[in-house]
Amino acid sequence: MKEHSISPEISAQALAARVQELGEQISKDYADKAPLRIIGTLKGSFIFLADLIRAIRIPVKVDFMEVSSYGNTMASSGNIKIVKDLSHDISGENVIIAEDIIDTGLTLNNVMSMLYTRNPASLEIVSLLVKSQKMKLDFPVKYTGFDIEDHFVVGYGLDYQGYLRNLPYIGSISPDFPAASYVRKE
Ligand code: 5GP
Repeated sequence: MKEHSISPEISAQALAARVQELGEQISKDYADKAPLRIIGTLKGSFIFLADLIRAIRIPVKVDFMEVSSYGNTMASSGNIKIVKDLSHDISGENVIIAEDIIDTGLTLNNVMSMLYTRNPASLEIVSLLVKSQKMKLDFPVKYTGFDIEDHFVVGYGLDYQGYLRNLPYIGSISPDFPAASYVRKE
């Protein structure tokens, strides 16, 4: 039987250090720009967002949106639907969208267009991971955690078939990875 494994790519320590830096930078940049609202895109960004806001020193409020993305495959569908909308009015607020990963950028493009119509004072993006070589749209991503090669990654909130979000680091897997039955040893 084939031995499946996850190839580690970004360690938990490297993630923590980079998220801390992003939090420090945002705290500096937004020191005079209250109120700051961070919007997490569910579900992939929830772990990143939880760590990021604890690295932010200035007053910050949080909200969440859920947009549908890939389904159970590893290929971008381009079909995006708002599954859960914000629960707050963001007009006049300085908003940062916290994304787990920007691949083609199609998801974020839709989210940005929709949020602009709600008149935030400013709208910026922080993305833990960016596949800049693959991005189809030219986004002004103000804060990038890591720029990665074009391949499928999991962990630290990012899933495969709904699983592997609980992996404390970022890794890569093969398409036949048995996510539903995999038990981490380390
Ligand atoms: P985009 O619209 O930018 O192509 O795709 C964005 C969404 O696709 C992300 O929010 C994420 O849900 C999913 N996605 C894109 N690349 C990856 C990847 O390498 N791994 C995982 N787990 N999800 C990805």
